[in-house]
Amino acid sequence: MGLTIALNRGRILKECLPLLAAAGIEPLEDIHSSRKLVFEATGGHRFIVMRGSDVPTYVEYGAADVGITGKDTILEYGQGARFYERLDLGLGRCKLMTAMPEGEELGDGPLRVGTKFVNVSRTYFESINRHVTLIPLAGAIEIAPIMGLADLIVDIVDTGNTLKANGLSARETIADISTRLIVNRAAQKTKFDLVQNLVSTLREVVAA
Ligand code: AMP
Repeated sequence: MGLTIALNRGRILKECLPLLAAAGIEPLEDIHSSRKLVFEATGGHRFIVMRGSDVPTYVEYGAADVGITGKDTILEYGQGARFYERLDLGLGRCKLMTAMPEGEELGDGPLRVGTKFVNVSRTYFESINRHVTLIPLAGAIEIAPIMGLADLIVDIVDTGNTLKANGLSARETIADISTRLIVNRAAQKTKFDLVQNLVSTLREVVAA
């Protein structure tokens, strides 16, 4: 039996399929035009396609042997996550940053932070001894300051265009983000050869 590989639907899926294909693993049917969630692949492997935030869960509990998702998702899943992060695929490079309205400075008073990344933000603000109230948001993070919902936000920044378009400027970098390969702890042992082969082949593909 091959590996069960959990893939993050969307941008990451689109970008990592060519890498996996170059490593000799290809789905037996077109993933993009199907509503299926499980796909047989060459070499006896299997892809399962899901939301990014579910990838660490599937890998931690062994429902998938390996997974591919963003470092942001891995960080938000939790520091004590019980899986191995084996490879940086170098895709989707961006930064997790704080941002606030252009020209404004942080006072000493209480702060409200709007974010999708509540766990990462809590850890970050604790590490700088800053007391904040976290406001969980699922989207439209960038308008939270303008609408008076939050004093600052924690969000993913690539070009910075989204921030700029909403009158915000990036401030502190919390983490450098890119797409990572994670491996279930048991699978690392029980499927050692398959896992090592995947990691080393992908490493070569990424370096090329
Ligand atoms: P930008 O305007 O280029 O700074 O892009 C920022 C927006 O695009 C953010 O709202 C992010 O949600 C999204 N984004 C950009 N790069 C990534 C990435 N690598 N992974 C996930 N989301 C991203």
